[in-house]
Amino acid sequence: MDIAVIGAGAAGMMAAYSAAKNGAKATIYERNEKAGKKIYITGKGRCNVCNASDVEGVLNNIVTNRKFMYSSIYAFTNEDVMKFFEDNGLRLKVERGNRVFPESDHSQDVINTLKKVLRDNGVKMIFDKTVTGILAEDIAEDNKEENGIKHSLNSSFDNIIKKNISKKVIGILLENGEKKYYDKVIFATGGISYPVTGSDGMGIRILEKEGHRIVAMRPALVPMNCADECVKDLQGLSLKNVKVLFYEAGKKKPIFEDFGEMLFTHFGVSGPVILSASSFIGKKIKDANIELVIDLKPALSENQLDDRILRDFDESKNKDFRNSLDKLLPKSLIPVIIDRCKIDPYKKVNEISKSERIELLNAVKKFRLHISSLRGFNEAIITSGGINVKDINPATMESKIIKNLYIAGEMIDVDALTGGYNLQVAWSTGWLAGISAASENLQ
Ligand SMILES: Cc1cc2nc3c(=O)[nH]c(=O)nc-3n(C[C@H](O)[C@H](O)[C@H](O)COP(=O)(O)OP(=O)(O)OC[C@H]3O[C@@H](n4cnc5c(N)ncnc54)[C@H](O)[C@@H]3O)c2cc1C
Repeated sequence: MDIAVIGAGAAGMMAAYSAAKNGAKATIYERNEKAGKKIYITGKGRCNVCNASDVEGVLNNIVTNRKFMYSSIYAFTNEDVMKFFEDNGLRLKVERGNRVFPESDHSQDVINTLKKVLRDNGVKMIFDKTVTGILAEDIAEDNKEENGIKHSLNSSFDNIIKKNISKKVIGILLENGEKKYYDKVIFATGGISYPVTGSDGMGIRILEKEGHRIVAMRPALVPMNCADECVKDLQGLSLKNVKVLFYEAGKKKPIFEDFGEMLFTHFGVSGPVILSASSFIGKKIKDANIELVIDLKPALSENQLDDRILRDFDESKNKDFRNSLDKLLPKSLIPVIIDRCKIDPYKKVNEISKSERIELLNAVKKFRLHISSLRGFNEAIITSGGINVKDINPATMESKIIKNLYIAGEMIDVDALTGGYNLQVAWSTGWLAGISAASENLQ
């Protein structure tokens, strides 16, 4: 079996490894001059390889098309990922939130391990070659017959689609017009986030041209722009242990809520809880006004916070209001909160009324911002959308549109939260595509 793998990212390298390990001859085509450019920048250069929680925990962190991922995650679990790297000489460590990193803290060591494993298994890597299309031919009539008879015995949706496959891949087309012939082809060309790494959606467009349906792509795990002027005054401020709630205008139930760390930037908000939220509000943001409500003191109930404010006021009786909040709030937040609660900053603390205190309390417990949009693909950790999962067999990763063509990694309409889950998607789908391509008979 002679297999071409397109893309030397996490999914492509894992696919080539599993194909070669299962007896196939595998060749990777990569448009860059080297492998794993995106892996290199993962986890701030440390590469959060996967997550050491149980498998259900992994699945629960997949936001889009979790069910589609069941077969591949169970076929190559997070434990299998850790074993794969450790068996091949990469020592790993587990950090907060079960995040797994190389002990060295260097993503390059992850790439080097993959390169060594590929070399040891005879995988050929061809760099500086951009794949621009596939070569396909009609499936012979007798094979189509055979497909039809086989699948008409089974009435599931998957098989009805498969019955209609009329083409099979026979090779790839390179940018310089060269044609290369292969028994099977695995596409692992990534999404469209951080396009400087080589993943600009070209592979998705190639497969769309061949009849695969595409789910509209949008940035996910991405910072957010805010319409409020105050974010400029707050830029650089990092908040730990805050509660964030995102609301669609006019609705009472939050679309998303979380607790943790966030930060202000010159354009709006970022940080872990904001990135996670982007995966959930992305679909709504075009059609709805989204409000972010931050509880700056989530550990205190309103009564407890009021008591705390009264205590602080008591200690600074003769001070101006503007000088009484140093213990309660970070410095840069104080003028913003004063502005929002509409209390005269020069008012003496002992002259502040209860209703004014309630305004202050509201400004702290319900600090409102208006999200105008998500930042773009250049800053998105992951692409949401891509090849429609309905056009891929989840048990093999084979296309349901073109025979002998397999699809893996971020180019599929699957996305997960931060914590090592997106690389897990790439490892699992890559591994399953590789083993399926190597072991399924040719037709
Ligand atoms: C800044 C950042 C940090 C991240 N950190 C983490 C993390 O710590 N943990 C985690 O789990 N996930 C993380 N992710 C997400 C994770 O990196 C991706 O989900 C994963 O790398 C996707 O792997 P892939 O193989 O599907 O695609 P890619 O890694 O994008 O690989 C695709 C490859 O295909 C090549 N290619 C594209 N088109 C062609 C073509 N036409 N011909 C030939 N080659 C082509 C590209 O050059 C590229 O090398 C991070 C992402 C970013 C951007």
